[in-house]
Amino acid sequence: MTSGYAAPIVELDEGSKNIYKLNQKELEKTLGRADIVGKKIALISIAGAYRKGKSFMLNLFVTYLEHLHKGGKGEWFDETTTLDKFNWRGGTKRDTNGIFIWSVPYILEDQNGEEVAIFLMDTQGTFDHQSTVQDCATIFALSTLLSSVQIYNISTQIQEDDLNNLRLFTEYAQLTKDENRQHAPFQKLLFLVRDWTNSDEYEYGYEGGKEYLKEEVLKTTPEQKKELKTLRESIKSSFESLKAFLMPHPGLRIARNNSEKVLGKIEEEFSEQLDILVPSLFKGDSLKAKKIDGKEITCREMVGLFEELMKIFNSDDLPEPKTILEATADAVNLAAEQRAREAYDKYMKEVTLGITKFTSSLADISTLLSLHQAAETQAFGVFSARPKLGEKSAAEANKNKLKEYIKTRYEEHEEKVKQNILIEAEREAEKTYDKHMK
Ligand code: GDP
Ligand code: MG
Repeated sequence: MTSGYAAPIVELDEGSKNIYKLNQKELEKTLGRADIVGKKIALISIAGAYRKGKSFMLNLFVTYLEHLHKGGKGEWFDETTTLDKFNWRGGTKRDTNGIFIWSVPYILEDQNGEEVAIFLMDTQGTFDHQSTVQDCATIFALSTLLSSVQIYNISTQIQEDDLNNLRLFTEYAQLTKDENRQHAPFQKLLFLVRDWTNSDEYEYGYEGGKEYLKEEVLKTTPEQKKELKTLRESIKSSFESLKAFLMPHPGLRIARNNSEKVLGKIEEEFSEQLDILVPSLFKGDSLKAKKIDGKEITCREMVGLFEELMKIFNSDDLPEPKTILEATADAVNLAAEQRAREAYDKYMKEVTLGITKFTSSLADISTLLSLHQAAETQAFGVFSARPKLGEKSAAEANKNKLKEYIKTRYEEHEEKVKQNILIEAEREAEKTYDKHMK
């Protein structure tokens, strides 16, 4: 077992019930790890009401990923499988509030054969037994905004309230809509229905889930109230992929409060579906990297997004969709500015490396100038390829900062060349002098 732990990324502020804060240190140690900064990221999250088996399920995800990591084939869990990774059954008050990320990323290949760092995210609402998604709206919203796959864990059936909790995302989606955008703002939402009892009508797994969504949950009819219809339609257009998986009951031993940290015996049906569900989450379209406005982001950009969103999601009063959009835009603009700076520096370094020394002529300055212009064009190209979110003026500010940076860097280069020319001229003069004196 690779040693990992559930890192608390978002925590309740000490001594307060509804103020959240970012644990910067843990964020840097996980998503910000130096060896993965430039890699694409898939963040697989599970959210939903308290005590419905989310952390229990995440333990099994880690088990499966460890199995893959070791090149294992065939059976990946049995009665001896341990469930000690994500704290489940509540645990202590202190370590169950907020957002946790499994500290170890698993590098898998996406559909294009490109590497993606997979991270798992656990969410936990307030520690009281009535806790519902509304009570931990902040955690639910944050995890949905950040993840590439949100697993919406629901007990026994999907109800109107469960859909209502998605309203914020539909409003956000509405804001980002414009005629040029083809993609939905959010990627994958998977309703994971636990303890499904109605398998006569809708069978377990994805097939039954698909029918259940189509025939009941997301069905719109002419008789339906307009509000219900609109909600369903906007949910469908806010997510790129919307699925449901109907999961059988695991057996009374699991459902009861047992304190064992091993899986033990589970219902055959549960075991069968587990073996379908878990592997399905780590292949195919579930491995699509996290995108913002249709553009894939890296681990480092995810860190930036986390930071920006935490500035506005600091209490249980949810920010307005417009505020969320602006914070997201700030994160992508800043990331684009940094990327563009790096592009300029990298290009300049490469082209000037070929020139061992700029020698004694003003022609060198004009060579440098044209290299600089090419580097600048590249850098601005990188900047304008960013997701186009939010107010134009915000992006304009970052663009100006980029311009300023490039100007300063160029002046430094120019200064160096001028000095070289001077040194070279002096050397020439000395040579002439020596010759003369001989
Ligand atoms: P969380 O608060 O959603 O993270 O829930 P936990 O993972 O801590 O699990 C709460 C309780 O539910 C534990 O006693 C688990 O053994 C039990 N449990 C786990 N999975 C299931 C399930 O699919 N159905 C039922 N009925 N109980 C489950
Ligand atoms: Mg939990």
